[in-house]
Amino acid sequence: MFISIDNVCFSYSNTKTAALDQFSMTIEKGEVISILGPSGSGKSTVLRLLAGLEKPEDGSFNIQETVIFNEKKFLQPEKRGIGMVFQDYALFPHMTVAENIMFGLFRFKKAAKQERLQEVLELVELEGFADRYPYQLSGGQQQRVAIARAIAPKPHLILLDEPFSNLDAELQGKIRKELRDILKKADITSVFVTHDENDAHAIADRIVKLKDGKIEVIGRPCDILNIN
Ligand code: ADP
Ligand code: ADP
Repeated sequence: MFISIDNVCFSYSNTKTAALDQFSMTIEKGEVISILGPSGSGKSTVLRLLAGLEKPEDGSFNIQETVIFNEKKFLQPEKRGIGMVFQDYALFPHMTVAENIMFGLFRFKKAAKQERLQEVLELVELEGFADRYPYQLSGGQQQRVAIARAIAPKPHLILLDEPFSNLDAELQGKIRKELRDILKKADITSVFVTHDENDAHAIADRIVKLKDGKIEVIGRPCDILNIN
């Protein structure tokens, strides 16, 4: 077991009901997990808690032997070794593809930085695009840059928030497969949030279905009914 999340509970300060109630699961190294559920079911809250943007009321979260949080400890977001890919990609518009990717590599020495840049560009198949600016790329290419940037520092885990919401239907199908291939090739453990059953079924090794802040079911896609 690589990651363990135990009994995590959280409520927003101005609310009575829990946004997340006793969330527990384990994740193996390299697994792609989808958090699936309708709007308001608690998906974003899971990501915010794992990323460290919210403090849980209860529960614990460990990556290998490292305690990320428990009743006594709360590791700050930047110390967690967790990368994020946001819904709108959030690339820096005034920076090239290479600069965007290297932004997170400030701890790397100069030569190592260049080497890692080439590695991740190859991984997302954008070798010829290092000097382009985000506005010179298609939506799908921008998304691949965002993934390259998140993967570049070799995080333990990456979190993706609705990674397909800004893409048209045709591109969505193509990118689904690409994303799964990239994550698997990079051997990156990932948790991605979606409200789309087809996304979850196409990409995930396992799906966590949420309803009203509670886990309804966890299983492999073939064991979970796709109503679409
Ligand atoms: P999802 O990502 O599945 O749409 P969220 O995690 O955003 O769900 O929300 C879970 C629950 O927490 C919902 O009932 C939502 O209204 C509530 N919620 C989310 N963010 C806040 C907030 N900042 N303040 C109060 N309630 C919130
Ligand atoms: P998502 O698309 O991730 O589900 P939402 O549209 O639910 O996001 O929420 C957008 C923003 O509004 C988030 O920052 C969330 O925390 C906040 N939010 C969601 N529900 C509430 C709520 N009931 N009260 C206050 N803020 C909320």
